[in-house]
Amino acid sequence: MRGEPLLALRVWVTAVLSVELNPFRQFILRYNCSKCPGYCCSYPLIALTKKDVQRLADHFGLSFKEARKKYTKVDPEEPYAMRRKADEHFGRICQFFDTEARRCGIYSARPTICRQYPGSPTCGYYSFLKHERDSQEDATHVATTWNR
Ligand code: SF4
Ligand code: SF4
Repeated sequence: MRGEPLLALRVWVTAVLSVELNPFRQFILRYNCSKCPGYCCSYPLIALTKKDVQRLADHFGLSFKEARKKYTKVDPEEPYAMRRKADEHFGRICQFFDTEARRCGIYSARPTICRQYPGSPTCGYYSFLKHERDSQEDATHVATTWNR
């Protein structure tokens, strides 16, 4: 029993590293963020580390305190949670999401969690999106949720 969580952690770390560091990454991945309306950026809780807040501060030329106040909110579960804004497809979405281009607006300064997601060769939302687009024969269809 005690070995199970460790084994699960090892499998997860191996999966993440093998995808992130693999030089053939683009051939392994079963999703394409450039064809996606950005579902993962609409998660109700996008947790930031202290280092993530500092990265935002550096990116925008602010102090840590200013960046924390401007871009994060306190969540019952996390000390630094991303502020969000309205979105036509998902209800609400990360404040830094470019809702016209449907992509991250601060890519080089994005938080750790965004760099790691989804951490496997597949993305559940993208599989769902692709299935919906194929079945509706509409390559631009946006499969929606309402993450308020
Ligand atoms: S939901 Fe999946 S495919 Fe869409 S942007 Fe996020 S990681 Fe990429
Ligand atoms: S920082 Fe960028 S990648 Fe991360 S949730 Fe916001 S828009 Fe998405």
